[in-house]
Formats: sequence, structure tokens, C-alpha cells
Amino acid sequence: MNIPTSQALFEKANQFIPGGVNSPVRAFKAVGGTPLFIKSAKGPYIFDEDGNRYLELINSWGPMILGHGHELVEKAVSDAVQHSFSFGAPTRREVEMAERIVGMVPSVEKVRMVNSGTEATMSAIRVARGFTGRDKIIKFEGCYHGHADSFLIAAGSGAVTFGTPDSPGVPKGVAQDTLTAPYNNLEAVQLLVDANPGQIAAIIIEPVVGNMGCVLPETGFLEGLRSICDKEGIIYIFDEVMTGFRLSKGGAQERFGVLPDMTTLGKIIGGGMPVGAYGGKEEIMNYVSPAGPVYQAGTLSGNPIAMAAGLAMLDYLDTHQEIYLQLDQSGVKLAQGFRASMEKLGLNYTVNQIGSMYTLFFTDQVVRDFPSAKSSDLGLYGKYFHAMLNRGIYLGASQFESMFLSTALEDSHLEEIMRANEESLKEILAEHP
Ligand SMILES: *Cc1c(COP(=O)(O)O)cnc(C)c1O
Repeated sequence: MNIPTSQALFEKANQFIPGGVNSPVRAFKAVGGTPLFIKSAKGPYIFDEDGNRYLELINSWGPMILGHGHELVEKAVSDAVQHSFSFGAPTRREVEMAERIVGMVPSVEKVRMVNSGTEATMSAIRVARGFTGRDKIIKFEGCYHGHADSFLIAAGSGAVTFGTPDSPGVPKGVAQDTLTAPYNNLEAVQLLVDANPGQIAAIIIEPVVGNMGCVLPETGFLEGLRSICDKEGIIYIFDEVMTGFRLSKGGAQERFGVLPDMTTLGKIIGGGMPVGAYGGKEEIMNYVSPAGPVYQAGTLSGNPIAMAAGLAMLDYLDTHQEIYLQLDQSGVKLAQGFRASMEKLGLNYTVNQIGSMYTLFFTDQVVRDFPSAKSSDLGLYGKYFHAMLNRGIYLGASQFESMFLSTALEDSHLEEIMRANEESLKEILAEHP
């Protein structure tokens, strides 16, 4: 019997790379089985090393909002490549990029480019701490802000207890300065603030969560945090690494009309290249070196090839805002289709959707925070994942991920996804009546 190439590659990868992958969720641990090794992608499709084609809803975890291999982005990169890959000196495109971001994201007045979302959030809280002279931050249970020490903190047991590290290697001293609150719970945040007067530098939040699956802020939640921050002199940070340029050209802040003091960006901003950025009010960003005292640097930051890709992407999004209507319609169509199929099958699982982000949670609870997300049947999600994969649909390899639609998905593709979804639900229902 022939061993599939993906399986052979994964076995070899495990000899040389921890767990065989360069980022954990790729390993399929949460769903079982062997990860597909991807060879190429075009439009709405990815192709694996065994020659299989899949319609996909990951899009590199968000960046490929125009589908794979968009010609304008490809052309920008191949043009840029002619002029060397890196200078470590300022370039014209960095200025254009900064101007474009400031023009698109409502609350950003000045911006600094970095190389990943992790760098963006890590730097943003350093600036918030430097600006306020305070050490503590508040984050929300189930929100992910990259892998810097301060953010790898699980829920504290009570509203005012200190966080404990989620991962070995995170020093207790660092963990102590990260306080956690349940998502969509303003009272818990107020309690934390009251218990730590004058000590909180920043509240950081995914304004729409993608990282416990897709979870929406309830009416008044983002606004309520805004007023707590205003009253207490706390820096309000929207982590829009996922939602930026996705939920609208100006991200979640534009969509909800709530303006943070600082914003972190990533994913779409690089058009598929490794790019991140953080920005905000001018008086805060002027604290960043060399304008101010807070140090932050990067040898490859603002890399010319990455800037070319990102700028081509942002230019397109800024000048084709009708695509957000198309993405919203695609998202609504899928969510409605999934709900209709479930009604037909007598199932009552939860679909959370906004714009081009959605998650089908295998729970009948309303999913509004981390505990309700965790009430999902993870075994069932694994079965569903493989049932979809067998039908040529590639989804996120964990219940706690959002799917990301691209403009490359046409109506026929959406129909195909809805059909596969109904068949997959039927199949797992037959196994688990
Ligand atoms: C992906 C993500 C990050 C981390 O970005 P990386 O580029 O993976 O370091 C941070 N915050 C949010 C909300 C994300 O979705």
C-alpha cells in the first residue's frame, strides 16, 4: 500500500521539528489524524502534496481574504523582488503603508510596522505600560494575543485573583501582572479595576473573538469597556490582528463605532507575508523609540517585499469596499444554510457568524464566552472535521477557531460547502444518535 506523501512528510517532520509543525494547531492534534502538507493554492482552493484539491475556509488563518494568488498582490511582490529583499533602511513603501493604515483604521494616528501579530501585541502593551507608568493589564479568558509571556495566562479562579501561567516557562512574576476577566462581563472588569486602583495600564481585547471560535461582543460591552478606560486612565487596546481589514476596511472598530486608544494588526496587513503593526493615538505612539523612551526595534521590520504584498492588498481593499458587502452576504448565506440543515436534522448546535467569520459550535448553549464555548462536544467536532475533509472541504483543525471566508468563494462554492455540511452532520448523527 502506498503511504500518502503527507503522512510520509509528517513522519519525517517529527524527526526534525517539534511535533512536526512550526505552529501547534497545524498538527491536527485536536481533531486526530495526520495534517495535510500543502503544495499550492489558487483562488478558493488548496492542493496537498498528494494531489488532492480542497475548498478551504482557513485562508492562512485570515490573510488571504481575496483568495489565493490574487494577481495584484503577486505582481507587486514580483516587481519588488527585482530590487533586493532587504535594506535595513527606510523605504518609500513604508511611508505609503503607514499613510494607508492611518487612512483606513479610524483610531490610528501613527503606526509602527513589525513582523507578526505576536510582536504587535507584545509591543503595544510595553508602550501602554511605558505611557501610563503602570504594570498590570487585563485580558479576557479565551482571547488569544499571540504567544508573548504576558498573554499566556489562564483564567484566575476568582474575579480578583492573579493569573497563573498557561505554559511552563512563563515566569510567575510576569503572570501576576496579567488579570483575566470573562468575555462579555463588564461587572467582572469593574471588580478587577476597583481591586487594583491606579495599577492597570491596559485592557486588551479581541473586539470580535476568533480564538475561542467566533464569539461576538454583546451590545454595550465594547462601549462599557471604553468608559471604564476613560474613567481610570487605562489604555484601551483592540487586538484586530484577525478582525482588521476583515470586518470592514477599518476593522471591528469601524464596524461597531467604538474607538480604542491603540490597535494591533497582523494577518491581512501582510497579504500573506509575515507582517504586523501597532498604532494608536499620536501622543501614545510618540512614546515609541526613537521619538520617545519605549524601546522597540526590528531588523526586518517594514521589509520591502512584505510591504509590497501588504500594500497591494490594502490598496485593493480600500478601493473595493463593495467586497465587504459580498463577504457579509456569503457569511450570512452559510450561517442560514447551516441552521436550515440542522433544523431539518433535528439538531440544535450554535452558529456564531459576523461578516466573513463564523464557527459552528457543537453545543446547544448560546456561545458568548469561554465556558460556553468549552461546553462544545470536541470529539464530535473532530468527526465533523474529517467528514468535511472527506468531502473536499478544509476547515480549522479545532473547535476553537473561526473560519475565514474569502472573496474567491462564489455561490456555487457556498452551495458545495452547505451540501457537504448537511451530509457531514447526517453522517455523525448516524454514528451518535
Ligand atoms: C493570530 C493572532 C495573533 C498572533 O499573530 P501571529 O502573527 O500569529 O503572531 C494575535 N492576536 C490575534 C487576535 C490573532 O488572531
